[in-house]
Amino acid sequence: MKIKINDISKEGLTIEEKQDAGALDLARDDLKFVTPVSITAFLTRDKDEVYAHVTASGRIEAICGRCLAAYPIDFSKEFDFSYDIKGKTVLDLTEDIRQEIILEYPIKPLCRESCKGLCQVCGKSLNDGDCGHKPDAQKWNEIKKSGN
Ligand SMILES: [Zn+2]
Ligand SMILES: [Zn+2]
Repeated sequence: MKIKINDISKEGLTIEEKQDAGALDLARDDLKFVTPVSITAFLTRDKDEVYAHVTASGRIEAICGRCLAAYPIDFSKEFDFSYDIKGKTVLDLTEDIRQEIILEYPIKPLCRESCKGLCQVCGKSLNDGDCGHKPDAQKWNEIKKSGN
């Protein structure tokens, strides 16, 4: 998202863009945008500084870190930036927006807080019901005890 500083009037400037998520290099192994990223920036100028209020939104497909199922996240975040524009004619917000979006990603995506994960024996998702395999109860107790 490139902005000509002279286009920012006293009342400010609003720019809307749809950016290709691939071009922004936003994919992570377990997260990717499945829509273009809608970016709206409102820019104001004060002497040698430009302030930008940015909203970025789109739909992400995430892979659950426990059960490995794909699930959607509706991403929508707002960011604020300020720039020293002394001697500049053009501002490029792209890299700052990219970094802020990635910082907002969940560290470990979970399809739900209570996701039960996969059966250690057969690999079936335990969210779909009990597959009949029981974790070794005695072993579990030992793990719990030593964990405390
Ligand atoms: Zn899950
Ligand atoms: Zn099982």
